[in-house]
Amino acid sequence: MFTNCEHRKNQFMKKINFYAGPAILPQEVLKEAGQSAISFGDMGLSILEISHRSKEFIAVMDEAEALVRELLNVSNDYAVLFLAGGASSQFFFTAMNLLGQNESAGYLDTGSWSSKAIKEAKAFGHVDVVASSKDKNYSYIPKGYQISDQHNYLHITSNNTIFGTEIFHLPETSIPIIADMSSNIFSRPIDVNRFSCIYAGAQKNMGPAGVTLVIIRKDVLGKVDRVIPSMLKYETHIDNQSSYNTPPVFPIYVSLLTMRWIKKLGGLKAMEKRNIEKAELLYNEIDRNSLFVGTANKEDRSRMNVCFLLKDSTMEKAFSEDAENAGCVGIEGHRSVGGFRASIYNAMELDGVQILVDVMKKFESKNT
Ligand SMILES: *Cc1c(COP(=O)(O)O)cnc(C)c1O
Repeated sequence: MFTNCEHRKNQFMKKINFYAGPAILPQEVLKEAGQSAISFGDMGLSILEISHRSKEFIAVMDEAEALVRELLNVSNDYAVLFLAGGASSQFFFTAMNLLGQNESAGYLDTGSWSSKAIKEAKAFGHVDVVASSKDKNYSYIPKGYQISDQHNYLHITSNNTIFGTEIFHLPETSIPIIADMSSNIFSRPIDVNRFSCIYAGAQKNMGPAGVTLVIIRKDVLGKVDRVIPSMLKYETHIDNQSSYNTPPVFPIYVSLLTMRWIKKLGGLKAMEKRNIEKAELLYNEIDRNSLFVGTANKEDRSRMNVCFLLKDSTMEKAFSEDAENAGCVGIEGHRSVGGFRASIYNAMELDGVQILVDVMKKFESKNT
């Protein structure tokens, strides 16, 4: 048990949040969100107790859409939606809306989330797994595989949250690409025009859990002839500006605050610079430190989720304790990889990564 004094110290010590998701948000975003939960602007009401059809909330939706378009440079060929159901619902949503029963789609299998997308798509059409890195526990991104141009689309997971790999070069193909960008959306500039659909659950790099961003090319819709319930049809949500039913108002609002913060810091180029710096700091230490080893293939290392092991796994408990004592939270690895995973999304500061690196350095000098 803590002594009284230790307990107080622990309670007030600044925590460095390495959770994979729901994950770190900028402090100023949390402060403003908290304030708005009590009293929103000059309305004299909480953001949580106003109509989604009030002019004040419509202004939130409009600004959120405008910021997505501005930050990612999204043209009017695309609709921007804020939906409920998580990225996991987009696994079936995409196939249900874009893959006819006698048609085929290519899927790149780079981890658990890709596999789940594949499983859902199989209910709606033919799925061709174009390549998989399952043979080496998803520690790399497959390259040099063939993709049939007969497919309706190619589905990829741009960042593999669990395995710590990221796709830095899009596959060479002329067919439209659908990407699950849940864990690296807004982390660097991307060319949206290469995609027919981009989706992302907010709770990794964009906001709190509860809303999913969908960016979809309007001209790919309306081509399958199955019956689709209204709520599961992209057109329904496009025609109603994501307010066919009550949208997840608070997660959308907090996502808006996060996008304002990204813009204020200089947009996605600035995020990319920050994220490269943080990732290099941590990976350099993993490579330098004699006790640790990274799990992902070097050229495919994620800038968002850094997975690493202690060469001697019996030391894990001791290292976890040191990290915890330094205020580092959420570094235990996913059970399918083991070891450690430090998620260093946009809102993580370089100082936070430095604290973890210092723990690793001290741990090495103590133990060698
Ligand atoms: C977290 C995550 C998901 C699942 O998101 P939910 O919003 O929980 O459904 C899907 N894909 C990736 C890449 C993720 O990181």
